[in-house]
Amino acid sequence: MSIDWMQSAQSLREELIARRRDFHRHPELAFEEIRTAGIVAGELQNLGLEVQTGVGKTGVVGILEGSDSNGPTVLVRCDMDALPINEQNAAEYVSTSAGKMHACGHDGHTAIGLTVAKMLSQHKEKLHGRVKFVFQPAEEIAGGAKAMINDGALINPAPEVSLGLHLWNDLPVGQVSITEGSAMAGSGTFTITIKGRGAHGASPDQGRDPIVCGSQIVSALQTIVSRNVSALDTAVISVTQFHSGSAFNVIPSEATLNGTFRTYRPEVTQFVMKRMEEVARGIAAALDCSIDISIEELTPPLINNDESNRRVRDVFNKVGGDSLQLRNDVRTMGAEDMAVFLEKVPGTFFFVGSANAERNLNFPHHHPRFDIDEDSLPIGAGLLAAAVADYVIK
Ligand SMILES: [Zn+2]
Ligand SMILES: [Zn+2]
Repeated sequence: MSIDWMQSAQSLREELIARRRDFHRHPELAFEEIRTAGIVAGELQNLGLEVQTGVGKTGVVGILEGSDSNGPTVLVRCDMDALPINEQNAAEYVSTSAGKMHACGHDGHTAIGLTVAKMLSQHKEKLHGRVKFVFQPAEEIAGGAKAMINDGALINPAPEVSLGLHLWNDLPVGQVSITEGSAMAGSGTFTITIKGRGAHGASPDQGRDPIVCGSQIVSALQTIVSRNVSALDTAVISVTQFHSGSAFNVIPSEATLNGTFRTYRPEVTQFVMKRMEEVARGIAAALDCSIDISIEELTPPLINNDESNRRVRDVFNKVGGDSLQLRNDVRTMGAEDMAVFLEKVPGTFFFVGSANAERNLNFPHHHPRFDIDEDSLPIGAGLLAAAVADYVIK
C-alpha cells in the first residue's frame, strides 16, 4: 500500500500552522536563530533523529536513518532566518520583536521541514538510506549555507540529491513550479571608491572631480548589460548607493558607489565581474581619477538538475491531484542560498504558491505586510515528503 503523503500532511495541518505561527511571532535575524534552532533540534531529537547543533553557528542537522542503511542520502534543506523589517500586519500571530519579521516565509519553511521529518519518521521501517535535514541560518544575508558546508554539513554522510522549496507569493496557492535549469539569479555586490582631487566648486579645473567620474561609471556600467552580455543571456547591474561631498561649493576628493549584480549563468557572472572592473578603471583613467574596486560574488545562480526535476515532477503529477497546478516557468532575479547546496549536490528547489489575493495575502516577499495563505503549508509539506520518499521509501 502506498502512503498518501498529501493526506498525511493535511492530518498534521493544525500542528503545522501552530508551529509556523510560533516562529512568526518570534523572528530571529541571520546567525541569531537561537530560539528557532533550539525548537528544531528538540523536535528532531523527539522524533529520534541524530541531531547536530551549532553547524555553521546556528544551523541544525538532523539525520533520519532508515531501517536499511543501503540506500541514498537525501538532503532536505530549510532556512530559519527573518528580516530586519517592522511588521505592519495585524494578524494574531504578528511579530513580537520590533524591527524583526518573517517577511520571506522562512517561518513556514522551518515548520514544513519539521512536519516532513515527522511524516517520514513515522515510516522509518520502510526507509532505505537516510534523510539529512539541514536547517540553515542566514539565508537572507547569503552565508549560512557556506558556513554549514564549512562545518561539514555535506560529509558523513555525503548526500546524493538535495531538495528544498520556497513558499512563493508571486504564485497563487494551489500552483507549484518546478523550474527547468536556472530558476533564481546568482548575486554579488560591489564597491567602487573613486579618488580624485578636491577643489573649490568654482574652480573645477584645479581639481579632478570624482562625482563627474562616478556619474559616468554609473552610466557605463549599464552598457555591460545592454552592449556586452548577449541579448539571450540575462544580467542586472544596479548601482544602489552613491555617496560623496558635504558642501555646495566644494568638489570632494572621493566618491563611493555600491550596488548589486545578478546573472543566470556562472559564465556570465565571471564575465560581468571582469567587465565591471575594466569599465570602471577605464573611465577613471580617462577622467584622471583612480579607483579602488571590490567585487564579491555572494551566491551562484540557482540551477535545478534535469534528472531530479523529472523525478520530482512525476511524483507531483501522481500525488498532486486535480487541484494542483504544476508549472515549469517561474523565474526570478532574486537570489537564494540554496544555490550553494545545489552547486555541490544536484537536486530540485521548487516554488509553492502561497498568495491569496481575495484575502489580501499577496504582498511581495520582504514587504512589511507580507503574509501567506496557510493552505500552502500542508501542500508544501506533502509534496516535499512525497519527493523525498520517492528516493528512500520502497
Ligand atoms: Zn528573502
Ligand atoms: Zn526566502
